[in-house]
Amino acid sequence: TLSDRLADTFKNLRGKGRLSEADIDATAREIRIALLEADVALPVVKDFVAAVKERARGEEVSQALNPAQQVIKIVDEELVTILGGETRRLRYAKTGPTVVMLAGLQGAGKTTLAAKLALWLKDQGKSPLLVACDLQRPNAVQQLQVNGDKVGVPVFAPEAGNGVGDPVGVAKASVEEAKRKLHDVVIVDTAGRLGVDAEMMSQAAAIRDAVQPDEVLFVVDAMIGQDALTTAQAFLDGVGYDGVVLTKLDGDARGGAALSIRQVTGKPVMFASSGEKMTDFDVFHPDRMASRILDMGDVMTLIEQAEKAFDQEQALKAAQKLSGQGGEFTLDDFLEQMQQVKKLGSMTKILKMLPGAGQIREQLENFDEREIDRIEAIIRSMTPAERHNPKIIDGSRRARIAKGSGRTVSDVNGLVDRFFEARKMMMQMAKGGGMPGMPGMPG
Ligand code: GDP
Ligand code: MG
Repeated sequence: TLSDRLADTFKNLRGKGRLSEADIDATAREIRIALLEADVALPVVKDFVAAVKERARGEEVSQALNPAQQVIKIVDEELVTILGGETRRLRYAKTGPTVVMLAGLQGAGKTTLAAKLALWLKDQGKSPLLVACDLQRPNAVQQLQVNGDKVGVPVFAPEAGNGVGDPVGVAKASVEEAKRKLHDVVIVDTAGRLGVDAEMMSQAAAIRDAVQPDEVLFVVDAMIGQDALTTAQAFLDGVGYDGVVLTKLDGDARGGAALSIRQVTGKPVMFASSGEKMTDFDVFHPDRMASRILDMGDVMTLIEQAEKAFDQEQALKAAQKLSGQGGEFTLDDFLEQMQQVKKLGSMTKILKMLPGAGQIREQLENFDEREIDRIEAIIRSMTPAERHNPKIIDGSRRARIAKGSGRTVSDVNGLVDRFFEARKMMMQMAKGGGMPGMPGMPG
């Protein structure tokens, strides 16, 4: 796997400093291979590797992670960013039924997905209507009806199963039907061909023009690998779409198509389909896809654990200082702790999404990262002697520090007070043998 290979690459790298140019090149080679193996398109691989190299150049070698882990972390973060950061949600129409149209090659998984999406919407209290606009394949309408039955969602089709008709007319009529029967979402299943072809594209475009969908979703089989990008581009030009659905992720495809499509078309992957069962469906999770593309297994978890262990070590050092084993707790230590709180703060968004984070959620919402920047500015305006022994910070020193940091004297007073409070609290904890938490956390 990538992590094994990177560990080999970095066998000889020890200690601090920056990653060397040779290390970065060796790393880039491994990442390149991993991405190509995951079926990411070559131009996308090139851009991506260049971006990772650029970032690796600027980074200090971390104390918490070994270089291989550190590079993987950069790669993972970049991947998640490109794959879309947070998941994009389905957009609902402000008035009238929301129309979702599916487009893609034959066999991509559209008809299956139509029913999965309908079930997912139903579970959220929506009342969907499935619409059979694939009148090309003899069994297409019936297949949708079978799937609709499975999920308990009605299917709109003019003359069920006869295999002929006008898909544009059906699509138009279905929206009227939805209004009459008070369905709030209409899911239009369309026909595909085995390859991209002009007639199919113009039919899909005609359906699109007739119903003006709120969302056109391009459905693509993750197993088609490198071809996914050409197909995605053809559908973007021929029909246009707002989002992408990746199917057959239960197979062994690594999912590089997600990265290629996102990077080249700019359209977000919104949903992932992963099996024959109607419940094998979920919103797309960029972080999971990143791990899958890199084939990293539990590496990210290990990295998080290593970082956490390192932070704990730092906290332990601070506690030892308080109990007299390592000198006194100073403003420098205080600043270091604040910076750790800040690191946590930048995870606020992620933490907020966690289920059951109720109580800390409120704290996090009030959390202001700029407050830590202000604290940092003040401490940095102090002399080493002042930081080491804050007791000497008298009135005139406070005025000087305020001026130097662009804050007011009362800001400086507030910080010094807070520091002494935190120190008192930490001493109590150290005596009690407990681990210090996050003293002085603002908000
Ligand atoms: P369409 O031609 O785009 O409508 O594709 P279908 O929905 O008919 O799917 C084509 C085939 O792929 C069918 O045999 C489906 O059962 C199968 N299929 C669809 N989605 C998935 C999936 O996520 N995983 C797997 N393993 N099979 C799927
Ligand atoms: Mg179909």
